[in-house]
Order: sequence, then structure tokens, then C-alpha cells
Amino acid sequence: MQTQVQNESIEIAIEMAKLYGMLNYLPDGQLSHAPFSLSPYSISAADLQEMTELTSYFSELMIRISQDWEFLAQYLSPISKTDPFLKMLLDLRGHEVTQSKQLLVQRNDFFLVKDELSNSLQGSSSALRQVELNTVSASFPFLITQLARLHQTLSEQNKLEQIIPNNPLIPVVDAFAKAVQDYGLTDSVMMLVSQPAESNRFDQLGLEQLLWEKYKIQTLRKTLTEIYESGSLREGHLIIAGKKVALTYYRAGYTPDDFRTGEAQKGRQLIEASSTIQVPNLPMQLAGMKKIQQVLTRPEILSTFVTDAISKRFLNTFAAMHALDDIIETPNGELSASEWASRNPEKYVLKPQREGGGNNYFGRDITKKMAEMQPEEKDAYVLMEKIEAETHPAILVVNGYAETLTSVSEIGRYGICFAENGVVESNEDIGYLVRTKAENVNEGGVCAGFACLNSLTKA
Ligand code: ADP
Ligand code: MG
Repeated sequence: MQTQVQNESIEIAIEMAKLYGMLNYLPDGQLSHAPFSLSPYSISAADLQEMTELTSYFSELMIRISQDWEFLAQYLSPISKTDPFLKMLLDLRGHEVTQSKQLLVQRNDFFLVKDELSNSLQGSSSALRQVELNTVSASFPFLITQLARLHQTLSEQNKLEQIIPNNPLIPVVDAFAKAVQDYGLTDSVMMLVSQPAESNRFDQLGLEQLLWEKYKIQTLRKTLTEIYESGSLREGHLIIAGKKVALTYYRAGYTPDDFRTGEAQKGRQLIEASSTIQVPNLPMQLAGMKKIQQVLTRPEILSTFVTDAISKRFLNTFAAMHALDDIIETPNGELSASEWASRNPEKYVLKPQREGGGNNYFGRDITKKMAEMQPEEKDAYVLMEKIEAETHPAILVVNGYAETLTSVSEIGRYGICFAENGVVESNEDIGYLVRTKAENVNEGGVCAGFACLNSLTKA
């Protein structure tokens, strides 16, 4: 697509983005179009099919793990000694009222590796490498659906290659409506737990709007502090602003920043003490922790949760991950993973138990961070092999400016799974997210450093 796109087309695309509600707030509060790419990313039919087929198996894995509190506690409790955020989350268990109905809305993120010879853990040369699976706040279902409309229109009008259809918005909204109906009370609402200052507000508003238009279900949007201040329990139900909350959808609560005050923590405790269906519930949120992801790269542990055939397919997509004290085989003999990564920091990413971007360590910062770490802090981090994603040129459009940059694309597959006491009732893949960003974000340029929403075309 890129060669045909001229300045005029960029102007038109920006105006269409605004027309479709692809908006977000800039740090100064100004409203702008969300960053997007004008060059869809092409993917082979085989990689796309494998990624799509794996979604429901990954959802089922998350549901299984969420039912196994002992397993979660075994690996997460040691971290809570040095990580107050994780301790707070684990302590919520004491407030939890069991709600047997589970709804998981997840997004499983991958890169495609450029070197087909770079073997996965299974030793296969699959191009897929999982980055992480998001069990909480899997965002962009609205914005990415709108971008697919935009790309589709441009491709039809300019006779460019077809984009792969994408509409995760409708299934997410349908799932929310079903959960509200399953809760079984007339006139109940969905509560969206929001951060106090949310730049991605329009992505949420698009969901809320469709939930109202299609099902006449109202959404209350509250911060955790507001939930504490205005919420109460009545016969086990969570009551906010006089309404019964059937469904609580977290678009906050995944970072310590959301729990700065005691009131915010009490807000989450109040939710836990009610019978509202939480997307996700506490154990599903914990199942998405990076420590759990690392532990599951061990085939003997993975195989306790899935069949051999599925385990093999998962391992084909896994990059190597280690606890810092793991002893690993290296070209220099057996060494601790932290020792090896300190010597080869460009080959690794160091990750704490955090979500939402900006928390990981790359390159020299890995060596520095590990050198400063107290021994007991090591449990709270995992090392992940750096994925060398395939690069491609892309026209990135950020806040009114367009630039062509050598880029990498991260593809997420959205999955929805309903379960009752851990028994899966329905489970499907519902679409994709692509985020394209400049290969080296340290490069200058207006558009470098921004993840731009994108669509897929068939290679
Ligand atoms: P978060 O929960 O903060 O989103 P991620 O694990 O998704 O954490 O990491 C954030 C970003 O860092 C990813 O979107 C990706 O661009 C980059 N990243 C993470 N892990 C790797 C990896 N193993 N190799 C290369 N890049 C990575
Ligand atoms: Mg991520």
C-alpha cells in the first residue's frame, strides 16, 4: 500500500480516523487521532491459522490455571516478599467471594521472527513467538475495529490488497451482554473500572456505546477510589449509584499506580467481596503474570495443564524464559541465567510482574538493574530471550504527521471464554490487534516510539 499513498491520502486517512472515533488524548489533554499505520502488515496464511487456532487453547489454559490456587501461590508468594503490589493482590484472596461464572477476555501477543532458523523451545522453526498473554485490560477492541473499516475503505477505493477482516468489538460486547444476562438480575449494569486519567477513553466509550445500542445495558465508569467511596454491598450484590453491578470490567487495577491510596485498595476489596462477575477475576489476573508465563515454558509443568499435542504447539511459539537463578547451558558452560544475561544483555529482556508497558529492562539496563538487585528481589523478575522480529517498512501516522520507518509488528489475537467453576462452556478467537512501531525506538523522528494500530493482509 505504501508506495501509492500520497500526502493527500494521508490527510484523508486522518480525517477518516477522526470520523470513525479513532481518537485518544495526548499527554497535554489535547484530543488527537490514535496513532495508526497506513501500511498493513502481511502474514502467511499458515502463521495466521496457527495463531488463530491456538487462541482457544490458551484461553483454556488460563482458565485451568485460575482454578489452581496452590499452583499460583507456589510461584507468586515468594515474590510478594519484595513486591508490595503482588502481595496486595494475593491478599485480596481473603476478601474474595466465589462467583462460579467466569468470563475471560484475553489477548495473546506475538511477533513473527525474521530468522526462520531461530528455533523455538520445541526446536521447530515456526515464525511465531509469544510476547505475553494479557488476561486483564486487553485493550483496543473498538479502535482496531474502526481501523479495519478505514483500511478496508482505502483498499477498495485505491484498489490495493484486501485486508483480513477484523471486528473484535461485536463479540466482546456480546460477551459482556451475555454475562450481565447470566448474572440474572433485571436492570443491572456493567461497571468499567477506569484509571483516573485515561488517554485511551474512546476505546472504552466505543464498547459502552455498542452495549447500550444493542442491549440497552448501561455502563458505569468508576475509579477504584470512587468505587470505595460510592459503593456498598446489598445481599451480596455490589451497588454503585443505586444500581446493581452484574459485571465488573477492569480497564485499571493492573499497576501499582492504580492502588496508590488505601481507598483504591478498599475499592478492589469491595468488588471482591461482592458476587459481581469480574473480567478478569483475581486468579485469572494472576494467571497472566509473567512469572507464570516463565514457569509454563518448562515442558514438564506445561504438560500438567494441557495435552502433549497442544503442549508441543505452545512450545513452538515460546521464546526461552528463565528465573534469574536458573542454571542454563551456555556456550561458556553452565551458568546462572542472570550471569549469562549480564554478559549478553542485548539477547534478553528483563521483566518484573507488571502490565501496561514501560516496565521492562533492555540492553545495558539489564546488567545495571541485576547488579543493584538484592538477592531476595530476584524472584520478582524473569529473563526472556529477546525476540528478533522481522522488520518491514511502514508509513506511521502520529498526531497529524506521517513518516516511513523500518518497523516491527506485534500481532495479538483476542479470545473470549466463558466457564463455570473452571469448566469451559464456550471459547473462541474473535479477531486481532496489530501494533506497528519503529524498529529502533531510540531513533529520532516524530513517529518513532509510538505503537501504531495496524491491520493484516495475506502474504
Ligand atoms: P507489558 O505487560 O508491559 O505490555 P510486554 O511483555 O508485552 O509487557 O512487553 C512490552 C513490550 O516490550 C512489548 O510490546 C514488546 O514490544 C517488547 N518486548 C517484550 N518482550 C519482548 C521480547 N522477548 N523480545 C522483544 N521485545 C519484547
Ligand atoms: Mg504487552
